[in-house]
Amino acid sequence: MAPIKTQAIVLKKHNFRETSVILSLYTEKTGKIKGVLKGVRVEKSKVPPLTFTPGAFISASIYIKRTSELNLISSPSLLQFYDMPSKKNLTGWRLILNLVDLFTPEKEIDREIFHLLKNTGEILTDCQNPVVIFIAFKLKFIKILGYGIELSRCVVCRSEQPTYLFSGKLGGLICNSCKSRDTKRVNISKRVINIMQHLEKIDIKRCPVIKSIPVEILRKINFYSNITLNYHSEIDKIWWTNEKNIL
Ligand SMILES: [Zn+2]
Repeated sequence: MAPIKTQAIVLKKHNFRETSVILSLYTEKTGKIKGVLKGVRVEKSKVPPLTFTPGAFISASIYIKRTSELNLISSPSLLQFYDMPSKKNLTGWRLILNLVDLFTPEKEIDREIFHLLKNTGEILTDCQNPVVIFIAFKLKFIKILGYGIELSRCVVCRSEQPTYLFSGKLGGLICNSCKSRDTKRVNISKRVINIMQHLEKIDIKRCPVIKSIPVEILRKINFYSNITLNYHSEIDKIWWTNEKNIL
């Protein structure tokens, strides 16, 4: 089969056998794929290690294997490595790479996710508010995945009466009459709803201009985002533990 030449962001890397690595890539043309990149862990390798380091923006040829989960990656070249100005920016970026790796299906093309990821990497290299960017990314990511978050009306009956109850399972606000649809619903404040709506609307590239948002508000938004994402995940482990490093 002919290879697909595509741009990609490296999400994850594992060493494989003596000289190879297994990469998880988010590619522009084939969505998320897992593949082997052979013979790069040798002294004479012409491929610089940054090319297969998580967070790298590369171009590569992908040979899709129909019968195996493991595809073949070849001729990678580094287009850009997003150097992070602080530890917080780097942690935010790593958490984002991990989210994309965890929550996107294999081999499903989604250029919106690819561009959101690439743009977020770019702006994280030069911004003072990485936690805001992390939260804004998460809200936009949830929206692209189609899990919500409905913040302008009741997600069940579409009533536009103001309501301050939130359902992760249903992916948005629920009104008093519909609240029995989710026994695990939680309260949400008007202020948090307003900030979430703002972060959802604003282009990720414009997010660096947002003045600081109190950390307790960001923690709450992160909580509502996580209960929404978690409802759709089949992951048994607690995947959000590392988020404590920036929130
Ligand atoms: Zn309702």
